[in-house]
Amino acid sequence: MSASERAIIAAEAHSAHNYHPLPVVIASAEGAWMTDVEGRRFLDMLAGYSALNFGHGNPRLLDAARAQLDRLTLTSRAFHHDRFAEFCTGLAELCGMEMVLPMNTGAEAVETAVKTARKWGYRVKGVPENLAKIVVAAGNFHGRTTTVISFSTDPEARADYGPYTPGFEIVPYGDLTAMDTAVTAENTVAVLLEPIQGEAGVVVPPPGYLEGVRRITRERNVLFVADEIQSGLGRTGRTFACEHEGVVPDVYVLGKALGGGVVPVSAVVSSREVLGVFRPGEHGSTFGGNPLACAVALEVIAMLRTGEYQRRATELGEHLHRELGLLTGTGAVTSVRGRGLWAGVDIDPALGTGREISERLMERGVLAKDTHGSTIRLAPPLVIGKEDLDWGLEQLRAVLSG
Ligand code: PLP
Repeated sequence: MSASERAIIAAEAHSAHNYHPLPVVIASAEGAWMTDVEGRRFLDMLAGYSALNFGHGNPRLLDAARAQLDRLTLTSRAFHHDRFAEFCTGLAELCGMEMVLPMNTGAEAVETAVKTARKWGYRVKGVPENLAKIVVAAGNFHGRTTTVISFSTDPEARADYGPYTPGFEIVPYGDLTAMDTAVTAENTVAVLLEPIQGEAGVVVPPPGYLEGVRRITRERNVLFVADEIQSGLGRTGRTFACEHEGVVPDVYVLGKALGGGVVPVSAVVSSREVLGVFRPGEHGSTFGGNPLACAVALEVIAMLRTGEYQRRATELGEHLHRELGLLTGTGAVTSVRGRGLWAGVDIDPALGTGREISERLMERGVLAKDTHGSTIRLAPPLVIGKEDLDWGLEQLRAVLSG
């Protein structure tokens, strides 16, 4: 039995089977490349669902983490620590906002955004008690907590977890007429959207959609909450995917790449009017905003300020989409969506399920992940070299040509 097989059997024996990983066991990684327990190298075309935008073992991020590890890792928020102000100021500035509420995982940040919007609705907008409504989009993915899956449209994500949290209305993604009807001036406190739906298969809304949502929400005194956990922080070629439509939401929800692939860091970022609704004791997290998280995220913020990663995502993304466009012509690929270094590739189902295509890619040294049906998602670290990207695309072409 190989070392990989042994490790997989051991993991299966003592872990809940809530994932179905590809049969590869990674032991180390650097940049866009990972090495398994048998010494085989794989090109990472998933980048930890965009948590690894800056690549594996990024020296700047590791140095920041190491320096902080030697000094101070955790205080809880019961005490102040000396990296907190820098982090909140830096992140607020990057977002063009005023206040930051740090959490750890993406789902926690979404939960925090839901609580923020409701509290703002009751305290500032004047919505009667328990009547706050949040409008969300079909096909969304905002995380796995009980409230968040309450407004999912994915039966797998919801089954057996009821009773569900009320207070959400689901409208079709990209449909401004439906949005216009659902967003009532009276009790709607927020529209919560991914500017590009990642888990749904990198679904880009029609031009003008985000702008339309911005207009509707502004007219009716409703918060526009943009979940940029996967789309944000450089992935699409801009710091935020909303920028492609010149839209500034009221609230950004951030996660994944904010922790540089080193530690979980998430945050809700907004104005003083909105985040100012919290008083001591009304929300919190033991690890949220801890010194290690702040130190790594501060380095992420500094790296994003240079614009280098956004530029790379734009340039390499244009190349990626040009090459994938050529594949669409061959019939093996039925459509390609995406922006920047991020693509959802729909494969002709006759060639296999997304899982089967991912397994064949793995055999050729490329690690990617299927989403629904026969869709493969490509999201390599933004530090990937052009030659490596081309090599990865060559493997995809080879897999698709049988
Ligand atoms: N929101 C979006 C848009 C996501 O893509 C994800 C994760 O894929 C989440 C929220 C949840 O983040 P986490 O898995 O860190 O809880």
